[in-house]
Amino acid sequence: MKCQICQRVLDAGEPVYRPHTSTRYIHWPGSSFGSICADCSKEKFQSRDWEAPVPCLGCGRPVARERYQWRSISICSDTCRKAAYAARARLRRATPPRPCPVCAQSFTPKRLDSRYCSKACKQSAYRQRINAKTSSARTSTRIRAKRSSELCN
Ligand SMILES: [Zn+2]
Ligand SMILES: [Zn+2]
Ligand SMILES: [Zn+2]
Repeated sequence: MKCQICQRVLDAGEPVYRPHTSTRYIHWPGSSFGSICADCSKEKFQSRDWEAPVPCLGCGRPVARERYQWRSISICSDTCRKAAYAARARLRRATPPRPCPVCAQSFTPKRLDSRYCSKACKQSAYRQRINAKTSSARTSTRIRAKRSSELCN
């Protein structure tokens, strides 16, 4: 990544400074945070109260934030911000593995409401349900038949 003030390419692992500015700041118009090198931060934002750098959630590069914004997530650039938000959203969408009620094998559901590991298991669960219904229906007819025969006797 490049320093947005001096345009120098930062070394891997070199800390990036994220000063908060107005969105009309000349070096990053339209954005309220810049990504700059340590030298430029000393030169332009010396009066800011910098925290010790924390690894970026996207790429791991150390990110220095101002003390008042330390609760915000540690992000070195807008690219990493998007990546980190996307990763978080993916994590939220992902469902934990659960056992299939038919074959008892643990599987990761593709959808929140899928209960079975496969179509085959879903089918066999459906068939079992149907069987259970018909057999219980059969039992009740048998009981009824028995009762009526008792009445006849
Ligand atoms: Zn610089
Ligand atoms: Zn990053
Ligand atoms: Zn299964």
